[in-house]
Amino acid sequence: MKTTSDQNLEKKSPLAHESAHQAGFQFDYDDAPESTSIVQLKEKYDLFVDGKFTPSKSKETLDSINPATGEVLAKISVAGDEDVDKAVESANKAFQKSWGQITPSERSRYLFRIARMIQERAREFAVLETLDNGKPIKETRDVDIPLVAAHFFYYAGWADKLDYLVPGRKVKPIGVAAQVIPWNFPLLMAAWKIAPALAAGNTVVIKPAETTSLSLLLLAEVIQDSGLPPGVVNIVTGAGATGAALVSHKDVQKVAFTGSTEVGKKISQAVIGQNKKLTLELGGKSAHLIFEDAAIDQAIEGVVSGIYFNQGHVCCAGSRLLVEESILDTFVNKLKKRIDQIRVGNPLDKNTDMGAINSEAEYNKIKNIVETSRKEGLEYFESHKQDIPEKGFFLKPCFFKGVSNSHLIMRKEIFGPVLGISTFRTPQEAIQKANDTHYGLAAGLWSEKASKIQKVSGELKAGVIWANTYNKFDPASPFGGYFESGMGREGGLHGLLAYVEVQ
Ligand code: NAP
Ligand code: MG
Repeated sequence: MKTTSDQNLEKKSPLAHESAHQAGFQFDYDDAPESTSIVQLKEKYDLFVDGKFTPSKSKETLDSINPATGEVLAKISVAGDEDVDKAVESANKAFQKSWGQITPSERSRYLFRIARMIQERAREFAVLETLDNGKPIKETRDVDIPLVAAHFFYYAGWADKLDYLVPGRKVKPIGVAAQVIPWNFPLLMAAWKIAPALAAGNTVVIKPAETTSLSLLLLAEVIQDSGLPPGVVNIVTGAGATGAALVSHKDVQKVAFTGSTEVGKKISQAVIGQNKKLTLELGGKSAHLIFEDAAIDQAIEGVVSGIYFNQGHVCCAGSRLLVEESILDTFVNKLKKRIDQIRVGNPLDKNTDMGAINSEAEYNKIKNIVETSRKEGLEYFESHKQDIPEKGFFLKPCFFKGVSNSHLIMRKEIFGPVLGISTFRTPQEAIQKANDTHYGLAAGLWSEKASKIQKVSGELKAGVIWANTYNKFDPASPFGGYFESGMGREGGLHGLLAYVEVQ
C-alpha cells in the first residue's frame, strides 16, 4: 500500500521512490494544519482591570495581526495615563486588602488552580499564540504553553515556603509590580513575571507587547474563572507610551522588564531615584562554540535549534557560531544540508519548523541587516527550499561564513534566523572571541571532554551556559544576563528574591 508521502513524492518527482531516495530527494509531508475553531476571537479587546474587562478611557485601539497572513485578528485597546492610574490603584487596593491578607497556602492554591486551568485550555492557548505571534504550532504546543503551566506550578509550590527562601531570615512582599514584556514568547514571558510576583504576595499590572496581546488577554479569562481576587492581576495593553507610564508610576514598587537593551536603558533612567526594585532582561548576542572533539551531528541539531528555533526570535539565540578551524568545512557542509531540510511555512501546520517573523518592522529590520552584510562581501548561504509563502513575513534560514567579530552581524542583535560563523584554533581564542561582546546573556559549547567544558564554561561571561545542548529552559533554573543583557535573574529561587524584601 502506498503511503501519502510516497504519493507526494511521485507527484513531485518522476523518479521511482527508491531512486528518488538515492538521488537525495527530500520527502515532504502532506499539509497538516491545526484547526483554529477552538479559538473564539473577539472583535475588540478591552483592558483587564480590577477583575473585569474595562474599555479604555482613551478609546484608542491598535490592530493585532496574524503575521503569517497579514489578516487583522482583533483590535486591542490602548491604555492611557488615566487607565494606567486605575490599574495601579486596583493593584494597590488588592495588595492592601485581599491578596495581602490571605494565607500563603491560599495563594498557593490559586496558583495551582491557574496552572491546571492553563493545561486544560492548552490547545486553545497554543493556537491563539501561533495565530498572533507567527511561531509554529509545534513550539507553542510543545514548548511555550507547557512551560507556562510549569512556571505556575513551580511558583505555586514556593508560595507557602517563603520562610525557607533565605535561611534564618523572614521575607515580605514588596507591593505593586509593574511588568513589561516583549513579543517573542508572549505568554511565557507573562508567566515568568506573574507567577513569582503572586507567589511572593505582590500584585501586578502587566503590559504585553503591542503585536502580541491576545494570549495574555485569554489568560485574563482563566484568572477570572480561577476566582483570583479582583485587582491581583491587571492587564494594560497598548504601545511604548503605556509601558513608560506604567513603569514610572509613583505607586509602583517593583519594575520587571524584558525587552530590548535600548528600552531597558530608558526604563532605568525613568525610574532612577524613585526607590523601585528593578530587574532587566535585555538583548543578547550569544556565542555557540563547537570544539573538534564534539559529537558533530548532535552539535548541528543544537546549532539549528539555537538560532533557527522560533525564527531566531530568542533573546539567548546562539547567533555567533565559533567553530574549531580543523572541522570548519565538515561542519559547514553538514549545516548547509540540514538547513535545506527546515520547513518554513504555515505556522499552524504541525510539520512547520519555522513560522513567520512577528511583524513587518522586524521583517524589514532583519532583511536590511542581511543585505548590508551581503554588500560587505561576506560569504552567504541560505536554504535552497523554494516554497516559502509569498504572503506574510517569512524568511529563509541563512548564515554568513568567514566573518570576524568586527562585522555587523557579529555585533548587532538581529533577532532573526541569521547566523554568523567564525573560527578559533585554541580554547583560549574561543573564550576571548566569545567574550568579545557588549552582551552576556547565554552561551553554548560542544565537546566530548568534560574537563574542557568545565574550564571553558568557567571563563565565559554569560548568565546561562549550555553544554552539549542549547535553548533548554526550566522554571527551577535562574535566567538572566551580564553587561548590556540586563541585571537580576528570573526563574528559580533567584527569580523569587526579586519580588521580596528580606527582613
Ligand atoms: P522592546 O521594543 O524593548 O519592547 C519590549 C516591551 O517594552 C514592549 O511591551 C514594548 O511595547 C515596551 N516598550 C517600548 N518602549 C517602552 C518605554 N519607553 N517604556 C516602557 N516600555 C516600553 O523589545 P521587543 O522588540 O518587544 O523584544 C525584543 C527584545 O527583547 C530583544 O532585544 C530580546 O533580546 C529581548 N528579550 C530578552 C529576554 C531576556 O530574558 N533577556 C527575553 C525575551 C526577549 P511595544 O510592544 O508597544 O513596543
Ligand atoms: Mg500579532
